[in-house]
Amino acid sequence: MAMPAPAYDHLAALEAEVSGCTRCPLSQGRTQVVFGSGNPHADLMFVGEAPGFHEDKQGIPFVGAAGQLLSKLLAGIGLTREEVFVANVLKCRPPGNRDPLPEEIAACERHLWKQLELIQPKLVATLGNFATKLLSGRPDGITRVHGREQWHTLGGQRVLLYPIFHPAAALYTPRMLQTLEEDFARIPQLIGRDAPAPVPVPEPAPFAAPESVAPVQLGLF
Ligand code: URA
Repeated sequence: MAMPAPAYDHLAALEAEVSGCTRCPLSQGRTQVVFGSGNPHADLMFVGEAPGFHEDKQGIPFVGAAGQLLSKLLAGIGLTREEVFVANVLKCRPPGNRDPLPEEIAACERHLWKQLELIQPKLVATLGNFATKLLSGRPDGITRVHGREQWHTLGGQRVLLYPIFHPAAALYTPRMLQTLEEDFARIPQLIGRDAPAPVPVPEPAPFAAPESVAPVQLGLF
């Protein structure tokens, strides 16, 4: 019987396909697609917003100042960038690092869903508002939901979604940095958490005719 191909081959094939994407106008201004980087079998995946100037030049997510903070926070919990997978909602840089537009997210999100399907992470940490709203399917902002893990089905798997502040936002706001560090400290414990067992659906009770009702005698018989 043919063995399923390892996830790496599929992810590499997806990357090759996405590198030529022209689904939205951002493709015209980019240096290159920033697909994502790290372990294709990672248990822990981070999803940011969109590539910035340095990411667009190097083709790797989170290589600028926010990326250095992300690597430092990872080191603080004993992990390296090579052990996790890091991606973004948008794979191409918006001009001037402006916020992603709804139509850009709509055009690009299929690549992220496919990445989730192939990598099958156990824990997905969403960095900031855009990733959190897209993957939770809810409008709640990051200030409200950061640090609150929630079970979702992503890419066909039960996944623990863990919204946290975006490192770029925490760079210049000490209180936000402290919160991000506290939320980060819970990641090792969350990676090991098992999905809750599905809630059993109660069997319908067998139908019993009320005793007071006499059985109906059909005239035909
Ligand atoms: N911010 C992001 O959201 N993603 C990057 O890749 C870099 C900065």
